[in-house]
Amino acid sequence: MVDEIIVMTSEAVQQIWQALDEVKDPEIPVVSLVEMGIVRDVMINDACVIVTITPTFSGCPALHAMKADIVERLTALGYANVEIKTTFAPAWSTDWITESARAKLRDFGLAPPPIHRGDLNVMLLEVATCPYCGSTNTSLRNSFGPTACRMIYYCNACNQPFEQFKPL
Ligand SMILES: [Zn+2]
Repeated sequence: MVDEIIVMTSEAVQQIWQALDEVKDPEIPVVSLVEMGIVRDVMINDACVIVTITPTFSGCPALHAMKADIVERLTALGYANVEIKTTFAPAWSTDWITESARAKLRDFGLAPPPIHRGDLNVMLLEVATCPYCGSTNTSLRNSFGPTACRMIYYCNACNQPFEQFKPL
């Protein structure tokens, strides 16, 4: 009987993860909150769903919209009580962005940040790869993009400006 409850709960949790994978990042609507590594944990406690998230950039105003979208999606799934916990430890890292999301960002014209495994010094010396032509012959234009989360580069090969996610 106890085993049965555990199986049912893990299936429900899996279903919630799938539903959250349909909730898009309000900042970048081509990728989901799960793909971005924002959703950290899903727990079911009696009739209450507890979702733990780590926002990408603390200054980003998208947090409110993000929470509302999560609640709306899980309400549609039949959960009336959704609690969202925000955790900043460990801080969100661009390393958490999944491979599928990196491909989608590239298609969106946004260069995904290189994987740095915590060594940001090494990473900052690395050149950005142009999402349009794949060239690494690029130069940094401005370290403050349209949002504080992005940097603007210029591709010297195809002469196009593009944005790269600021690595964190
Ligand atoms: Zn290019």
